[in-house]
Amino acid sequence: MDYQKIITEVYSEVKSEENKGKIPDYIPEIANISAEKFGVSFTDLNHHSFGFGDFEEKFSIQSISKVFALSFVYEKLGEELWHRVDVEPSGNPFNSLVQLEADKGIPRNPFINAGALVICDILLEICSNPKEELLSYIRNLSEEEDINFNEKVAASEMQNSFRNTAMCNFMKSFGNIRNKPDAVIELYCHLCAIEMTCKQLSKSFLYLANEGEKPSNMAQILSPSKVKRVNAILLTCGFYDESGEFSFRVGLPGKSGVGGGIIAIYPHHYCIAVWSPKLNAKGNSYRGMKLLEEFTTQTGESIF
Ligand code: GLN
Repeated sequence: MDYQKIITEVYSEVKSEENKGKIPDYIPEIANISAEKFGVSFTDLNHHSFGFGDFEEKFSIQSISKVFALSFVYEKLGEELWHRVDVEPSGNPFNSLVQLEADKGIPRNPFINAGALVICDILLEICSNPKEELLSYIRNLSEEEDINFNEKVAASEMQNSFRNTAMCNFMKSFGNIRNKPDAVIELYCHLCAIEMTCKQLSKSFLYLANEGEKPSNMAQILSPSKVKRVNAILLTCGFYDESGEFSFRVGLPGKSGVGGGIIAIYPHHYCIAVWSPKLNAKGNSYRGMKLLEEFTTQTGESIF
């Protein structure tokens, strides 16, 4: 399969079409990005890698980082983790509070904001320096040292984190947040403010395509059984209330972020990362979804 040729074609096709959607304005520091940024990067298990457009430019990975945080915590805590966060699709927007009351403070899954806040709370419990440990985890996966938080983005989100703070306090009232809500929010906003390129992302997530093993040095990041589970949650919950649509159109496990990034994993083969900042109404990159849909249509490859 000539992936490079297929991606060249779908990239220019999507680029030539109208760029629909809207850049979110609720995190002022990421609202200024050019709407026309568009990058894609492909990396397979042999580290054969190529990209197009703005694939070497850093952007705010936002909720994509929830996958790193989940892997980190899951490896350390094991199945005990699922007492504090569930594995069901929420069918609701990523920042929704509505189900938390009926579910007694247990978030539906680790990829909605409430779930990621619980993961951050656990990180504060198990790490002496969670921010540094997270960064070194990601630096190890990407094999690049220059992966950092954008402090301006983190500060901007902290100043506007009224919904996330409400969620955190609400879960604390049920006993599912154990640290001070302010500390959890601070860590969460930093987690969302990590900056990476499409190229770095498509390399970093290869362990999810390789039964948990980092292909370059065979280090086991997660067990094969845990990888199966993380990919299952990505497929069913990675795009919030558009997870069914992404699965229907693309057919791969994946994760989006409000910075306009999307990663998708084809188990046993490759990882692909796309970035285009304009989001559809469900908070997922308009062009990112389109490109991936066209890509798997052309290759005929999906997990189904
Ligand atoms: N930082 C964003 C928020 O908490 C992350 C949401 C996302 O990327 N979907 O709202």
